[in-house]
Amino acid sequence: MMIPDKKGHFGAFGGKYVPETLMALIEELEGVFYSLRSDKVFQKEFRSLLCEYAGRPTNLYYAERLSEQLKTLKVYLKREDLLHTGAHKINNTLGQVLVAKKMGKSRIIAETGAGQHGVATATACALMGFPCHIYMGEEDVRRQSLNVYRMKLLGAKVIPVKGGSRTLKDAMNEAIRDWVTNVKTTFYIIGSVAGPHPYPVMVRDFQAVIGREARRQFIKQEKKLPDILLACVGGGSNAMGLFHAFFKDTKVKMIGVEAAGHGLNSGHHSAPLAKGKTGILHGSKSDLLQTRDGQIKIAHSIAAGLDYPGVGPEHAYYKSIGRAQYVSVSDKQAIKGLKFLSEIEGIIPAMETSHALGYLEKLAKEVKRKSTVILCLSGRGDKDVNEIKEIL
Ligand SMILES: *Cc1c(COP(=O)(O)O)cnc(C)c1O
Repeated sequence: MMIPDKKGHFGAFGGKYVPETLMALIEELEGVFYSLRSDKVFQKEFRSLLCEYAGRPTNLYYAERLSEQLKTLKVYLKREDLLHTGAHKINNTLGQVLVAKKMGKSRIIAETGAGQHGVATATACALMGFPCHIYMGEEDVRRQSLNVYRMKLLGAKVIPVKGGSRTLKDAMNEAIRDWVTNVKTTFYIIGSVAGPHPYPVMVRDFQAVIGREARRQFIKQEKKLPDILLACVGGGSNAMGLFHAFFKDTKVKMIGVEAAGHGLNSGHHSAPLAKGKTGILHGSKSDLLQTRDGQIKIAHSIAAGLDYPGVGPEHAYYKSIGRAQYVSVSDKQAIKGLKFLSEIEGIIPAMETSHALGYLEKLAKEVKRKSTVILCLSGRGDKDVNEIKEIL
């Protein structure tokens, strides 16, 4: 069976639920994407941007002191934090801007919550000479003023969105509105494995380099496959990027970590796989945080990059077939994870990544024998230092 199928379904999830006016464009994008997938020139250009510009391959680093402390786990960190702009998001934005170029588009739009995807998009647009408009909720513009300024330095225009809760999902709605209006000239860059088909498979493809490299590097160092893969899940792109290359290695266990915020029963979390119901948001069917009558609930996480009420459809699929397990880690445990890695390895991780780190202690107690782990260190924590300072 081909995953996703021709219509973009991952089992019962995915698909393309878009307004009529976008359908022709979505189908055009689908055609272009599938032909570029096997286009040697495109793949070579993409590869060269990843290596020469973004800094791939990233290290697979054996965290010896961390592992000694955990006793039952031997932990390797896939260092996406070492990439240009400090996180895995650049893998995807470089890929999509290259697709936009091949389609002859003249303008790029994107939405952003914390501003990480906005910065990665603005960076790729500056590199390839595209005008770039970033939609951002007014509340997020206020909270993330430094990233707003970064985007402006990179030559992007940031458009504050006043509607709704004035956060990520409202920015996404506004970006879609712009796209419907300017469909001929404009390419919309989505920042995670979410949105209508072909976005989830396209973003997965661009991020899958994480797992391909990690698999090769791990085998070289350990002469076998890892026992466990561990990654945080917001929309799910760094996790899927790590997981994808191991899909057929059925002995390799995959664990995705959602944000439990103030606790799974507090009503203030970002854990749609643990606590959501299947529904449709932003063009795709997946697990969502919603009220009994189907209104989208506001998500909460201390990590702005995990603060989204939905999740990529392929994760909902992995969960439904039992290929991956999904757990959650609270704001408090994540902060503990951040301090732990900073003090024991001299690496300050992003608040998002700290959720995966925050699960290590529990995992160390659960494993039945000494186990090897690859943890996706999705980003560096410099962006979070101010907020952590306030909290601590
Ligand atoms: C945006 C972000 C995430 C969450 O996005 P995914 O699509 O779930 O990977 C995780 N880590 C970092 C550092 C981020 O910037």
